[in-house]
Amino acid sequence: MVILIAAMAVLMPLLAALQFYWLGQVSDGERERLQANLSADAIKFKRDFNRELIRAYLSFHVDTSATLGDIERHHVERLEQWQRTAPYAQLFSDVFIVSTDEQGRPRPSRLDAAAKQFNPTGWSGEIANLRERFEQRYESARLQTEIASQSSLESFAADIPALIIPFPPLPPDKARSQRVPLPSGFTIITLNLKYMQREFIPSLIQRHFPAASETDYNLAIINRDHPQQVIYSSRHPSEDVNSSDVSMQIFGMDSGEIRTLRRDGGAPVAAGEQSDNGPMRSRSIVRYIKRQTGNSIAAASSGEEDGRWQLLITHQAGSLQAAVSSTRRRNLAISFGILLLLAASMSMTIVATRRAERLARQQINFVAGVSHELRTPLAVICSAGENLADRVVSDPRQVARYGTVIYKEGRRLTEMVEQVLEFAGAQSGRRRYEFRSTQVADLINGTLTACRAQTQESGFHVETEIESNLPPVSGDEAALKLALQNLISNTIKYDGESRWARLSAQMGAGERGAEVRITVEDHGSGIATVDLPHIFEPFYRGRDVVAAQIQGSGIGLSLVKQIAEAHGGRISVRSTPGAGSAFTLHLPVETQVGDTGEANS
Ligand code: ADP
Repeated sequence: MVILIAAMAVLMPLLAALQFYWLGQVSDGERERLQANLSADAIKFKRDFNRELIRAYLSFHVDTSATLGDIERHHVERLEQWQRTAPYAQLFSDVFIVSTDEQGRPRPSRLDAAAKQFNPTGWSGEIANLRERFEQRYESARLQTEIASQSSLESFAADIPALIIPFPPLPPDKARSQRVPLPSGFTIITLNLKYMQREFIPSLIQRHFPAASETDYNLAIINRDHPQQVIYSSRHPSEDVNSSDVSMQIFGMDSGEIRTLRRDGGAPVAAGEQSDNGPMRSRSIVRYIKRQTGNSIAAASSGEEDGRWQLLITHQAGSLQAAVSSTRRRNLAISFGILLLLAASMSMTIVATRRAERLARQQINFVAGVSHELRTPLAVICSAGENLADRVVSDPRQVARYGTVIYKEGRRLTEMVEQVLEFAGAQSGRRRYEFRSTQVADLINGTLTACRAQTQESGFHVETEIESNLPPVSGDEAALKLALQNLISNTIKYDGESRWARLSAQMGAGERGAEVRITVEDHGSGIATVDLPHIFEPFYRGRDVVAAQIQGSGIGLSLVKQIAEAHGGRISVRSTPGAGSAFTLHLPVETQVGDTGEANS
């Protein structure tokens, strides 16, 4: 047992420490795994997102020189084809062509899809913001300054949003005089922002972040240059770039995607031309876009990350770290709870085992004690009987004395057997009490009469003090008498020298109402403080009593307790070691016993 307790004391903290350490490791691994998965999903999202836009870009891109009329026909055809076959058919809002007028000023015209023709239009509506950019571009081109190449137009106008696609370069004879090849015009594809917000982005999110579309992650897409412009946001988005778990630029050119799309024939090459030698052409288109649209695209086309919008993903808990930490805390709480439960149940097992051991020891002592108690009167009865039978004694007075001895020892035996049977009956739950209205004074006087022989024999003086007008109690008179007899026997057994006891009865207020208190008091040895909490346990005997070899079985007080409780009452004790003890039987007055009914102990 000691080894078990020691092993528990060492193993439990060790297990707790290991648990703590491993859960920490598991959490770190989990966080890294989640972070990697999230980043991988974000990359796929970005690829799909950019692919659609590049597909659109390439759809309206013209590789080789063509007349304005050819380009217009090409665009009409491409728009029809897009709307017929593309997965996100409504991605475009409008198609514009910006060409120059006689004064070299940029003039936009808008495609009327129904009429299949481009009509001149002003710099108004969606493209109003682009006017300044185009005019600057054309002005620079006209002045043919070096700055012209740097003030080129970007392929994506993130704020509108729109794609800006340059026309093919001018034929060499026209371009020769220019230091920077100048496109003769631009195609502007304005994107349908509402459609992107309602259909395009959500469907990509659904595809790549199934968890995010439920509850785990918050997503936001903001304009990189103007972070306050929120393009898309999930239910509780965090638009803080610094606190997000994944932050990735989208809406940009990617040379790899351009090559893939062109190789797969995802976009036509030029008006009326087939994409038969894609890779070659894709390199040239990247170079061309680089030249035509400036340095920022150069970065993108070399495969570096460059996007006009920023995708921000944040875990609902605030961050992935916070989510993993809270899971770790929960796991720690559960495993420590289990450890505690284990420790508690082991402690309880130890306590129960010790208790069972003590009970077994007490039972052996009980058997030994009862056997001893039985042996003495039996030996006296046997020898007295033998003497009588052998006519060793014939004097009538001596015969009478022998008779008295046999009677007394026989009565002692009977009482002892009664007590053991009573105890066994009460323990097994088979004992049935017969409750009757009982006068307390009768009960006390009856007990004293039953004990008279014992008290007289030991020269005991028992005082009685019964309060007048005590109400009757409902009880089993024989059982209550047995309880009081046990208490009186104990006062005689553990008296020492005083030879005094008092039996008193008075009214009192108990927890459940009025009660009659019958107290048996003595000036005997008293009960040691260590024994006091245990004396009502079956087979328990005081250590001093055992040491002094005072006969007893340790069932008397436990029987008294059972009888008191069967009557809806209780037993209490006050004791001062060396000065005496007072045992009080608390019995509820008759009216209150009704609800106890015929109680079984
Ligand atoms: P037993 O008397 O057979 O030992 P009991 O159940 O009657 O068993 O009593 C249990 C223990 O309580 C006794 O062994 C004794 O130590 C203590 N005890 C009971 N009554 C008294 C008393 N009146 N004075 C001192 N000790 C007592």
